[in-house]
Amino acid sequence: MTGAAPATVAFGALYAAVVGLCVGSFLNVVAWRLPRGESIVRPRSRCPHCSARIAARDNVPLLSFVILRGRCRTCGEPIAWRYPAVEAGSGVLWLASWLVYGPTFDGLLAAVFCSLMLVLAIIDASHLLLPDPLTWGGIGLGLAGSFVVSWTTPRNAVFGAAVGAGALLLLIGLWYLLRRVRGMGLGDVKMLAAVGAFLGVGGTVVTLFLASLIGALAGLLFMARGRLGWSSRLPFGVFLAMGAVVSLFFGPRLIAAYTSLL
Ligand SMILES: [Zn+2]
Repeated sequence: MTGAAPATVAFGALYAAVVGLCVGSFLNVVAWRLPRGESIVRPRSRCPHCSARIAARDNVPLLSFVILRGRCRTCGEPIAWRYPAVEAGSGVLWLASWLVYGPTFDGLLAAVFCSLMLVLAIIDASHLLLPDPLTWGGIGLGLAGSFVVSWTTPRNAVFGAAVGAGALLLLIGLWYLLRRVRGMGLGDVKMLAAVGAFLGVGGTVVTLFLASLIGALAGLLFMARGRLGWSSRLPFGVFLAMGAVVSLFFGPRLIAAYTSLL
């Protein structure tokens, strides 16, 4: 961003980061409740160990974790590090969206897209599941957003969603012919379709390339440690989420670097 006074930029960046922290707190709730079929809006959060209600003052993103030294106020059981990690990650992603795109529709959609990728990654990591409300919702939001953001067009969004879904269906089919197992689920297909709706064709190709790379490396690492066989399922949604966020911020540069190599 250029032209704005430094104080304005700094305040905006701080504001974006704080909003991101609060969104992260909400993503934790979604990631816990959605796979369990619980309501996202009610009731108030409870400690998973002692079921004590978590008071508002103990529910401040990051700060409460630090003040409580990572333990429940009532029972003293440790709070999973995942909670503050997701809040911090969301804060960083919202800050990055602000720094790259500023106070624009681009910035807002970028931040929302990052939040969607983050919550899908957490749920996939713990449940090997990518819930329909999030993937279908992402497809709808991406298509709607393509009318206002500057990095894609509605046409590109539709093609992106189709290319994303088609490419993964093809991969799943080939993998099945080769190994007689389903390497990925339809959740992954819908998730990459959502990525395509947000980022368009180019961003989808970059996402799939990066996700395959990260997934292959992670797979080899786990196999080397003897914790994974050929038929084990990896949370591919986690790798898709990583690839998608990198693609959002660096995709055009990666494509330019790649085409200059040819
Ligand atoms: Zn407790």
